[in-house]
Parts: sequence; C-alpha cells; structure tokens
Amino acid sequence: MLQPLLHYGMHFVVPLFIALLFFRKKWLVVYGILLATMLVDFDHLVANPIFDPNRCSIGFHVLHSYWAIGVYVVLLFFKKTRVVGIGLVLHMITDYLDCLWM
Ligand SMILES: [Zn+2]
Repeated sequence: MLQPLLHYGMHFVVPLFIALLFFRKKWLVVYGILLATMLVDFDHLVANPIFDPNRCSIGFHVLHSYWAIGVYVVLLFFKKTRVVGIGLVLHMITDYLDCLWM
C-alpha cells in the first residue's frame, strides 16, 4: 500500500519541490520539464509484457539501462540540459527504489 504512494509521490511531488525550491522564478516551466522526463517510460511499450509490477525497470528497459543512466548524469553538468538531467536521474532513483522493495 505504501509503495505505490511513495512511487507516485516521487514522480509528482518531489519534482514540484525541486522546482519551487531551486527554480523559484520559473518553477512552472521547470516542473513541466521534470514531468516530461517521465516520457522515458515509453521504452516500457517495447517490452513484453508492457507492464509488470514485479519487474525491475532498471537495467531491463533501454532507457533505464546503466549506460543510459550514465548519459543522464552527464546532462547534470551542463546548464542547458541540467533540468532534464535532474528529472531523469530522479526518475531512475524512483524506479530503483521500487527494485529494492521487491
Ligand atoms: Zn521508469
């Protein structure tokens, strides 16, 4: 019961806090970008089966592989891609927490 709550809290509430705390002047734009990074879950569509609550996304899906995560971390170092990087890394942490839970 607690796990989905934590998962969606991380996906929706934590980005809001990050946007409000660190990007106060344009928090809405930043929040929008952070939510948009959830699109990386589209790689689940090419997986079979599409959704499996007992599967660990990390290391399984293309955009959740370790080399992809490495790319997301690199994005953090450039000002223009930093917000996208934050969203993607946060997403991976969220998905990874799910894996620990199993
Ligand atoms: Zn994911």
